[in-house]
Amino acid sequence: MFDVIIAGLGAMGSAAAYHLSRRGLRVLGLDRFTQPHAFGSSHGKSRIIREAYFENPIYVPLVRRAYECWAELESRSGRPLLTPTGGLMIGPPDGVVVRGARASALKHGLPFEELSAAAVHERFPALLPAASDTAIWEPRAGILNPESAIEAHLALAREHGAQLRFGEPAESWTERPGGLVRVRTGEGMFDAAWLVVASGAWVAQLVPELALPLVVERNVVHWFDPSAAFAHFGPGSLPIFIHEHEPGRIWYGFPDLGDGVKLALHHQGEPTTADTVRRDVSNDEVERVRALADRFLPGAAGRVRESMVCLYTNAPDEHFILDTHPGHRRVIVASPCSGHGFKFSSAIGEVIADLVLEGRSRFDLAPFSLSRFR
Ligand SMILES: Cc1cc2nc3c(=O)[nH]c(=O)nc-3n(C[C@H](O)[C@H](O)[C@H](O)COP(=O)(O)OP(=O)(O)OC[C@H]3O[C@@H](n4cnc5c(N)ncnc54)[C@H](O)[C@@H]3O)c2cc1C
Repeated sequence: MFDVIIAGLGAMGSAAAYHLSRRGLRVLGLDRFTQPHAFGSSHGKSRIIREAYFENPIYVPLVRRAYECWAELESRSGRPLLTPTGGLMIGPPDGVVVRGARASALKHGLPFEELSAAAVHERFPALLPAASDTAIWEPRAGILNPESAIEAHLALAREHGAQLRFGEPAESWTERPGGLVRVRTGEGMFDAAWLVVASGAWVAQLVPELALPLVVERNVVHWFDPSAAFAHFGPGSLPIFIHEHEPGRIWYGFPDLGDGVKLALHHQGEPTTADTVRRDVSNDEVERVRALADRFLPGAAGRVRESMVCLYTNAPDEHFILDTHPGHRRVIVASPCSGHGFKFSSAIGEVIADLVLEGRSRFDLAPFSLSRFR
């Protein structure tokens, strides 16, 4: 008998396992694969963390708490997880990225600077935005290592007594008399007072009754060897950037942390499912990104070292789901993050623990509610 079973030990589930076990609960964590793995949404060595949130200012308090939780996790685990680089949100001055980042920074009093395209190029010579672009510079942005972060959360959860079972997906669950939840796997049945469904791109399979309107999207990231001087593209010279290069079309990049410059399109991938996704990457997909690099980050995209497929699980409004199940008050759905959730996962683990232990969160979770789909 457990207090909480967590189905899915990726970004959200590993953080939940840590926060719940640290606060004294008996936790069972289950995952379909063995962490770290490359089949879900949390692989690929780097994730952007940023504060002047262009998507919506409602995320700013949560990401500020996430920064604190990441620092705490670094100190408790002894692992470096966050590389500060600063960040540039680039695009037309009234586009979704620049306008949104500016609005979030102003609303929450965050430090930022607005730079012309020429000023961006002067300060970060690798970048060559269009003359009509501007950029919001935010000094606290940086890079998280997702595999290390998940491993750190899981290692500490284990130290706090969590039982973690890998290669053992939750197949189904039912509510038992007395409000308990029973989870069935290929190995057996487990009872708990609470269930946290954090199975990412597979989430809909565990709550089919909710008929969640989610679309799993195939996205590809690429690592290139720069053909120009490496120093130009290292983390001291190139920050993370997100660039709206055409209205509503976004690509983004990371400096070379030793394994190449990582570049990708944001969205624009094909709809798929977690079980049937095409994992091979075509030359056309490499060339689409290379063409953007040749225009806006010349010299970055020499030989492609590696390309990798990763899954976004998108809600129609591109917000998250973080809510209790409407029919089962002790089941929490905490996963689909519409391709921008990793940075928040340290704080989302804490939110899940607050929901279980206190029945509430200090954050406004209304934008992430299940009722918005009804
Ligand atoms: C290419 C790409 C780039 C991204 N860039 C960023 C970024 O820069 N910044 C950012 O903040 N976010 C970014 N994201 C989004 C972010 O990575 C995701 O929102 C986040 O990792 C999702 O975490 P999760 O826990 O929901 O899913 P996952 O980490 O995928 O975890 C789900 C887990 O559930 C397991 N599972 C599945 N079914 C079951 C079952 N039935 N029982 C038990 N376990 C099960 C899976 O094996 C998996 O381990 C990016 C995503 C991608 C794909």
